[in-house]
Amino acid sequence: MKATVFHEFGGVDKLRVEERPDPVPGPTDAIVRVRACGVNRLDLMVRSGATRVKLSLPHVGGCEIAGEVVEVGSAAATDVRPGQAVAVAPYLFCGRCEYCLSGSESICLRGDIVGLSQDGGFAELARVPAVNLVPLPEGVSFEAAAAVSLATLTAWHMLVTQAGLRPGEDVLVLAAGSGVGSAAIQIARLIGARVIATASTPEKLARARELGAHEVINYQSDDMLAEVRRLTGKRGVDVVVEHVGAATWEKSVAALSRNGRLVICGTTSGTEGRLDLWQLFAKQLRLIGSYGGSRAELRTVLRLVADGRLRPTIHATYDLDGVATAQTVMADRQQFGKLIVVP
Ligand SMILES: [Zn+2]
Repeated sequence: MKATVFHEFGGVDKLRVEERPDPVPGPTDAIVRVRACGVNRLDLMVRSGATRVKLSLPHVGGCEIAGEVVEVGSAAATDVRPGQAVAVAPYLFCGRCEYCLSGSESICLRGDIVGLSQDGGFAELARVPAVNLVPLPEGVSFEAAAAVSLATLTAWHMLVTQAGLRPGEDVLVLAAGSGVGSAAIQIARLIGARVIATASTPEKLARARELGAHEVINYQSDDMLAEVRRLTGKRGVDVVVEHVGAATWEKSVAALSRNGRLVICGTTSGTEGRLDLWQLFAKQLRLIGSYGGSRAELRTVLRLVADGRLRPTIHATYDLDGVATAQTVMADRQQFGKLIVVP
């Protein structure tokens, strides 16, 4: 099979398309013919060697796979059969630890992600645990499925499961052009919240409005916190969707109303942030971590895509030779929505 691999950690210049042996399934695995694979920040971290996970080289990245099942292992606990169209739930889990047993499989004690410690989806074929296969509802394309299986799943888990966003609340969504941001705007709108979104250019702000943002803030030209105060009559927002980290953290916390909740799923600008503990207790703030999402949540997301109630936002598609270009676009934040590789 063809795959985009790297033999050593480094920049996008380390990526090359090569012939690799076809993957062979273990008894509980499945082989998927990859029809689309989303590009994520995680791929850039894996390629540059910035993750704490040990992985063997050469490595194939890509964690957000949709495709057709080619083969299912003899002992696989799944009803999915060869030929079926599937999304691959990106979070790998043991199914035995206390967190798996409580349905929180994305925080499994032995958790992993497709394309992290094992090869992923920037390839014609991928080997994944068969229990991670989620059948695609009718009418959902491979590109659409690959666009929502990680970023939209993450945004869903953040807003619905972790933050418990309610109709009528005000929510601040950071970085509307990102995969999580563009999904969070739509989910918050679906719930019935008032959505305030931030982005860096007038074009991205216009796209954020098209997705359903009621108000937008250009964080390059305007002060985000001052704008939130103006738009909420100094009250602040009920929920902040954080995934930027160090660069925005203090302002995000300060943007919360009393009883406000901040939910965070990533730190693209750095992992350290200062916290005023007086604000935390005196305003009864809640700071909520969020990590991925479950297969059940992915089923819900895919059903909403099939119903047309969530629209995957796809910026561009690339072939295997274009993985380096796609990762450069992401590193430079040029995109609005998802970048998809079609092998
Ligand atoms: Zn587990």
